[in-house]
Amino acid sequence: MTTTHTAGATETPVDTNALRNYVGGAWITPRTTEYLDVTNPATGDLLGRVPLSNRADVDQAVAAAQVAFPAWRATPPLARARYLFSVREQMEAQFETLARQVTLEHGKSLEDARGSVRRAIENVEVASGIPSLLMGYGLEDGAASGIDEDVVRQPLGVFAAICPFNFPLMVPFWFWPYAVACGNTFIIKPSEQVPTSMQLIFEMLGNAGFPPGVINLVNGAKDTVNGLLDHPDVKGLSFVGSTPVAKYIYARGAERGKRVQAQGGAKNVLVVMPDAVLDSSVSNIINSAFGSAGQRCLAGSVLVTVGAGHERVRDAVSQAAAALKVGNGLDDDVELGPVISRAAQERILDYIEQGEREGATLVLDGRQVAVAGGDDGCYVGPTIFDSVTPDMTIACDEIFGPVLSIMHVDTLDAAIEIIEQQRFGNAASIFTQDGAAAREFRYRVPTGNVGINVGVAAPMAYFPFSGAKESFFGTLHGQGRDAIDFFTDRKVVITRWF
Ligand code: NAD
Repeated sequence: MTTTHTAGATETPVDTNALRNYVGGAWITPRTTEYLDVTNPATGDLLGRVPLSNRADVDQAVAAAQVAFPAWRATPPLARARYLFSVREQMEAQFETLARQVTLEHGKSLEDARGSVRRAIENVEVASGIPSLLMGYGLEDGAASGIDEDVVRQPLGVFAAICPFNFPLMVPFWFWPYAVACGNTFIIKPSEQVPTSMQLIFEMLGNAGFPPGVINLVNGAKDTVNGLLDHPDVKGLSFVGSTPVAKYIYARGAERGKRVQAQGGAKNVLVVMPDAVLDSSVSNIINSAFGSAGQRCLAGSVLVTVGAGHERVRDAVSQAAAALKVGNGLDDDVELGPVISRAAQERILDYIEQGEREGATLVLDGRQVAVAGGDDGCYVGPTIFDSVTPDMTIACDEIFGPVLSIMHVDTLDAAIEIIEQQRFGNAASIFTQDGAAAREFRYRVPTGNVGINVGVAAPMAYFPFSGAKESFFGTLHGQGRDAIDFFTDRKVVITRWF
């Protein structure tokens, strides 16, 4: 038996709940002796203990991935895709088990969890088209008469993904299916707060029969990430998480000559025009602000009403929010589960207090939410502020909880200005029946994803998951064709035959 040592880690002996890494085609117990408890945020129950892998553990995984690369690269793209077919079939067969595991470790409602598993599968499906996606292009006589010029796409080697807590299963799928289909080998580092869904996924990857080392799992936290960032054989990193860490990873990765795509935090604005269709807009707004307990990077967290109808929209949204059923996400009728941890709950409650202190009007207070049997759960009920102004902290900071701030302006111009002033640029939505207003909005807003009568503008797998300003650092996004570009180099071949 080993004990834990790190700050914030428990002193409990490691037991059979200890999660493992998956390296070189096998489950392994990492060398680290540091473990963290993983708990169900709805109940406080222990789900397992996650190893905080150290440099030696990272080195072992990178070495396995590096060794696997040449043969995997030489495997024809269609043959590589067949492994993905197997993953897809297994995920469909175990769909409900996967969704329940997401809810168990994250807390989100089963419906939200199911949606995230569906998105993960869709990325596998899109990446399965790799023979077409990976094709280069060429031009006979492109360089001169009798001299042809061609572009081929080539994989680079070992890539890694560093993932956030809010989509335990889905986010790794924005990256690994594409990377591996392109012929690279891969390492997934899940969030240490939600590492259990990946244990199920790696069972499936093992069953799919990928050659050893093609896809690896390394659990851990900050030190594990630094191990990946510093390792010379890691060619590139995909990061999703908070903005300060995204910035750090982008800079440190670039210093070491790696490709980095780093998706950061968000503060998404939903604009409601006077002609918006109220009922449909309200249900979209509710889903956007309170789905996944507001812990989505595409969550609407500021609602701006334009012109007439402010009270009508505010009251309809507040009524619908107050009616949401809060509780354990595993209960089928629950719409709003707990937030991820006690620390997150305290942070969100602090923001609510700050909103009050700064003079916003609390229309719906989620602090005293009562959940039967939920005494040990990390609950925050739906919370709505009105009369928020752009300078208030609750209008600027990413709260990442079920808190919606409502503002009112007179013109679309003023609403767009509020979005322009945000330091984040992940998403923005407009609700209107006016094509000219919608066109103006999509043309001008400086966000990577835009919704028109869509509250959560989540790109499908064959489109890039975009982002701008402090929500994204890099050039090529996750998913779709961007992913193929990120995970390959374009080599130009100029050919002349004498
Ligand atoms: P986080 O930044 O705390 O952690 C993300 C990952 O980084 C984890 O794997 C963690 O182990 C690692 N990490 C944390 N601190 C580190 C450090 N100092 N050095 C190196 N690695 C470190 O983010 P989170 O709380 O897990 O996730 C929520 C955040 O993710 C929110 O800000 C949310 O907006 C963002 N997010 C963004 C998108 C997007 O597409 N832009 C999608 C999902 C989540």
